[in-house]
Amino acid sequence: MANQQKNTLSGEELFKRVISHAKEYGYVFPSSEIYEGLGAIYDYGQNGVELKKNIKEYWWKSMVQLHENIVGLDSAIFMHPKIWQASGHVDSFSDPLIDNKDSKKRYRADVLIEDKILQYERKGKTDKATQLQLQMEACLANNDLPGLKTLIEENEIADETGSKNWTDVRQFNLMFSTQMGSVAENAGEVYLRPETAQGIFVNFLNVQKTSRQKIPFGIAQIGKAFRNEIVARQFIFRMREFEQMEMQFFVRPGDELQWYEYWKEKRLRWHLSLGIAPEKYKFHDHAKLAHYANAALDIEYEFPFGFKEVEGVHSRTDFDLKRHQEFSGKKLQYFDPELNQNYIPFVVETSIGADRMFLLILCNAYTEETLEDNSVRVVMKIPPVLAPIKVAILPLMKKDGLAEKARAIFEDLKYSHMCQYDEKDAIGKRYRRQDAIGTPYCITIDHQTLEDETVTLRYRDSMEQVRIHTSQLKAIMAEELNMDNLLRKI
Ligand code: ATP
Repeated sequence: MANQQKNTLSGEELFKRVISHAKEYGYVFPSSEIYEGLGAIYDYGQNGVELKKNIKEYWWKSMVQLHENIVGLDSAIFMHPKIWQASGHVDSFSDPLIDNKDSKKRYRADVLIEDKILQYERKGKTDKATQLQLQMEACLANNDLPGLKTLIEENEIADETGSKNWTDVRQFNLMFSTQMGSVAENAGEVYLRPETAQGIFVNFLNVQKTSRQKIPFGIAQIGKAFRNEIVARQFIFRMREFEQMEMQFFVRPGDELQWYEYWKEKRLRWHLSLGIAPEKYKFHDHAKLAHYANAALDIEYEFPFGFKEVEGVHSRTDFDLKRHQEFSGKKLQYFDPELNQNYIPFVVETSIGADRMFLLILCNAYTEETLEDNSVRVVMKIPPVLAPIKVAILPLMKKDGLAEKARAIFEDLKYSHMCQYDEKDAIGKRYRRQDAIGTPYCITIDHQTLEDETVTLRYRDSMEQVRIHTSQLKAIMAEELNMDNLLRKI
């Protein structure tokens, strides 16, 4: 029996290993690496692009394909600048920023305080931690920037160099802007969208009318979003360019909290359907609500650096549609044939970061096991439906026609699944290579295959090997790699 070491590693050590493993096995590379990288921007390698694509497909199927009353959209990244005034992003999409005068390093004031709270908790000073948490939340709720600075000073918070010489706290807008066309000054200033949701709101009537949907109905979108995050750390957890998977669900005013409960539970089931342990998740209700919300929570996952948000479920009221109606001068009302009445719908939103989900899958999958011979195998226990490569096809040796036979199997299976053919190195080494990528199945072709058409099928997690006839391969793969089986659980 293999002995799993994952849980004996400290969170910090586990996270370090996940990051270097992600690079070594073609999941994630720092962007522009040969130019020393670019802060909080990352590229996805040959395995990363497959995993991310599968996560997006799993989300899309669960939201759009399985709901007759949810349709998709792909709106542009650039939108009319007035949209961001209407949505409130120009005025209030900002984080409290503080600079250290000695080190010249820049921090988010609330993150510095959160780190201090964690330190208090670790030292068992729970009262101090709770008090500081409440004080910080009060400052954030009242936009009390001097109050935040006082908390930093009173709790003697130092920066990473040890300096406590701080500037005042000020608000820093997180939107990136650029110029459109060749216009003078700031006349052509446009923003890179900081969330995909607004593209859905401004298309609400276009979609509703052309799809002939009746309330309640939803619009789903996957796309890039950009935020000039002040502190970008924790690898792909907080990036400046990232991808969101969002769904806005339009409901009758007054029905929104019932739908909020519905989506909260449904989205958690989506996570659990992937086989991730329920104790790794928790809901975190927002104490401080954003200007547009009347209820909001985060679905948190226990990353190696603690429980953190992976998805948000927000009851956004009629705030966005109302504001767009006001700023555009165009009616954004829905005629409800059952009530015989016009109204602006209320909205419940589910919003998950594709990259954060990707990181969750990597952290959850990374496992080190000590085998009977005392060697250590690193295996990525990625849910098979999400794994980048589904099947590796391995001839035991190249000669005697084994390579040709293996190639024939590869050529047959590749139409249904991402397959990899590998004939280099000893078979044990090839198995380890596939374990490290997270390939759920290896098929080995040996001399017996030529005689009786049987192959060895090796399972990644158990390392169990079974002898089966090649004619059974497709049926086994079709059953075990089918997303439908998991989707039915949601
Ligand atoms: P945070 O508090 O972590 O900054 P947020 O509350 O601002 O996140 P939302 O605006 O609710 O996040 O965005 C919805 C989802 O988008 C988040 O749950 C997260 O998965 C993802 N997301 C947000 N910002 C980033 C980022 N900078 N990098 C990667 N994913 C992000």
